[in-house]
Amino acid sequence: MLQDVGLGDRSLADYTHLVGRGLVEEIRQRAEPLAGKRILNVSATAFGGGVSEILYAIVPLMRDVGLDVHWRVILGREEFFNVTKLMHNSLQGDDQGISDQQWEVFEAYNAMNAQSLDDDWDVIIVHDPQPAALRAGATNHSRNWIWRCHIDLSTPNLETLERLMPLLRDYDETVYHMEQYVPDGMDGQVQIIPPAIDPLSPKNMALSPEDASFVCQQFGIDTDRPLICQVSRFGPWKDPMGVIDAFRLVREEMPEVQLALVGSMATDDPEGWEFFHQTFSYADGDPDIKILNNLNNVGAIEVNAFQSQADVVMQKSLREGFGLTVTEALWKVRPVVAGNVGGIPLQVQDGETGYLISSPEDAADRTLRILRDPELAKQLGRAGKERARELFLTPRLLRDWLRVFGAMDL
Ligand code: UDP
Repeated sequence: MLQDVGLGDRSLADYTHLVGRGLVEEIRQRAEPLAGKRILNVSATAFGGGVSEILYAIVPLMRDVGLDVHWRVILGREEFFNVTKLMHNSLQGDDQGISDQQWEVFEAYNAMNAQSLDDDWDVIIVHDPQPAALRAGATNHSRNWIWRCHIDLSTPNLETLERLMPLLRDYDETVYHMEQYVPDGMDGQVQIIPPAIDPLSPKNMALSPEDASFVCQQFGIDTDRPLICQVSRFGPWKDPMGVIDAFRLVREEMPEVQLALVGSMATDDPEGWEFFHQTFSYADGDPDIKILNNLNNVGAIEVNAFQSQADVVMQKSLREGFGLTVTEALWKVRPVVAGNVGGIPLQVQDGETGYLISSPEDAADRTLRILRDPELAKQLGRAGKERARELFLTPRLLRDWLRVFGAMDL
């Protein structure tokens, strides 16, 4: 019943020119004693969101260095995913809790999936809360269980977290993006491993300036004029209306500037749609604000093109688990103006690899500084790319996982 995810091939050797021989060799050395070890990743879905982006890149690379790694997704129906969505929001701070009946749905689907787990594994890595109760029903399938958290647990709804905690404590190790996301009272081994982007995926591979500009023109962007861009889901924590405020302030000084808000939408996400419509009315038909979503056929290449073409990439988040969009922009040598929250300051060092801001006024001020000074833009962009190269590309993440496996009794 757990569905195997079909994966393409990746070769670590292809990353050597991007991350350097030293890291590639360290990876090979760490992988050698782990050859043939059987590792299963379990997640809730194979498309959309950061978890699947990461797994599509890292699982083939783990195989390439000799491990026997698989990725399966759990089976769930609408009633289950409605509960896990509530749980996700609640764990990230939403007041609304989970009723007893909803917990029963969560547990029942997890138990059903646990029963269908077969084979024996050296390690099972369970991603995020949706399948977190799997371990309880399938302990005998692996000696080592890891829970990999991809969300921001720094200000959770305590009632929800407390109910989940006994399930999480059962894991041998738990892994988080940042220290402040580790729940109080977590026993066992705790690891801090930030996520990473895949520099060779269609979203992040090098696009020529001509191709980026060609794609953006198809969406009505005048590529002879400056462009500010934010790529994000339409949600309150991404603050797209704050981006519009900042854009309007910039335009008072620089009338030729344009804004693109690029955001994916789930067709079954009524809240997301409502927020999208609010953002749309806030833009008030302004022809220089382009609001695009996946129903405009915006996929990985288009996101790549907008990020590559933008003179300033904004990420005006009010909360942010990590902010892969920031990493993506840094990797594309873009100057970034971003909210000083969550994982963003790990990536953007104020004044060096971009600017950290906390208001539309500051965002507008820093954006103008960049737009008026192409040398500054280049300098921030180059420093940003080096930071991404050093810390936030898939091979570093692979090395960190191999360290974790290497320290286990496999
Ligand atoms: N993304 C996308 N299309 C969109 C909006 C977002 O492909 O229209 C991608 C984005 O490029 C990034 C991911 O979705 O890879 C969002 O990750 P992030 O950590 O920035 O935020 P989250 O959505 O997980 O809060």
